[in-house]
Amino acid sequence: MDVNFQTNLKKYADLAIKVGLNLQPGQKLILQALKYGGVPIQTAPLVRELTVSAYQAGARLVDVLWRDDALKLIRFEHAPRDSFEEFPAWQAQVILEVIENGGAMLSISSFDPDLMEGQDPDLLDLQQKAIQKHRKPIITHAGKNTMNWTVLSIPIAGWARKVFPDLPVDEQEPALWDALFKICRVYEEDPLKAWQVHITDLDKRSDFLNHKSYQGLHYTAPGTDLRIGLPVGHTWKSAGFTTRSGIPFTANVPTEEVFTLPDRELTEGIVSSSRPLAYSGNVINNFKLTFKKGKVVDFSAEQGEQVLENLLKIDQGASMLGEVALVPNSSPISQSGLLFYNTLLDENASCHLALGNAYQFNIQGGEKLSTEEFKARGGNTSLIHDDFMIGSGKMNIDGIIADGKTEPVMRDGEWAFKL
Ligand code: ZN
Ligand code: ZN
Repeated sequence: MDVNFQTNLKKYADLAIKVGLNLQPGQKLILQALKYGGVPIQTAPLVRELTVSAYQAGARLVDVLWRDDALKLIRFEHAPRDSFEEFPAWQAQVILEVIENGGAMLSISSFDPDLMEGQDPDLLDLQQKAIQKHRKPIITHAGKNTMNWTVLSIPIAGWARKVFPDLPVDEQEPALWDALFKICRVYEEDPLKAWQVHITDLDKRSDFLNHKSYQGLHYTAPGTDLRIGLPVGHTWKSAGFTTRSGIPFTANVPTEEVFTLPDRELTEGIVSSSRPLAYSGNVINNFKLTFKKGKVVDFSAEQGEQVLENLLKIDQGASMLGEVALVPNSSPISQSGLLFYNTLLDENASCHLALGNAYQFNIQGGEKLSTEEFKARGGNTSLIHDDFMIGSGKMNIDGIIADGKTEPVMRDGEWAFKL
């Protein structure tokens, strides 16, 4: 490892702890994986760096849930077929204990997009459901900003191979690190300051949209003609959040989006994906969804259609929308020209929607609503929340004003309003 890389790694770790979490002195910190139960053991060098940064910021205790992808595969190869609803419940309890007692949560996003290629989609689905069932209380806490939390991506070999298949093997992981450092502004003179400026800009965009309080949005692009109704009191947010105890934090590093929730019953029309969706170790590509009264009534995919079908069937809310997000086509991730096969990064390259659960903080007073009250206001609930990308340089979006008139929000993939 060269000296420069080590320096950048340290900056990246500091970014996660100081900008992402804004970890406070005395807080406990739990590190866990976003979707797959534990942090892959290959990420240990950065996890150690994160732990150093966390203690330097005053952490009282840093704990890590680990996993090994090879063990996950072994389960699929050797475990009884009827056992895939099993889940080690203690994993969720460990996290809940930390976050319900004032601690912070750092989720690591790091996986091999091809790891589960060829495995039985039904078993994958069962396993995914088991994870999601146990993760539900954690997601609910995140949705209510109980704790400061953030998500950080860490390259591993299988992922780097997918993003840079044409590079020699020993150059793939360094190339992915380089790309991440770039899009996370690690190479800037003062990355922490650059992030503050960026978050302020996103906040101004969301303020602008909040003043407009559009009734809905109308999307047009090749293969897309979609109208989405927005509920009364919907609130546009950037990833710059504040916990209920008053700690400001940034839920994703990097982030380029401003987003809100749709009324789950008011989406009509057809939408085409503009980038592949990596889901549960599989890739769903070139897919179309047709909505009626908010629900997907028809779908097709050139790749991963069965996986898409399973995803839509997970529960009632899985076939309805829970997020509407705007990202200019000129975002650094889009400009990198790379496809990361990682929704957290790819979503920031493009306008996107999410199937499944909506965030309660996206509606006025939402944090205090019960699930039933939230649904009555138009919010969607589901075990899943999966973003899929629809934006491109050819997308136009209009805001629908109260009297039915429209005005441009985005043209050719870029913001159509000046601040
Ligand atoms: Zn999003
Ligand atoms: Zn999302």
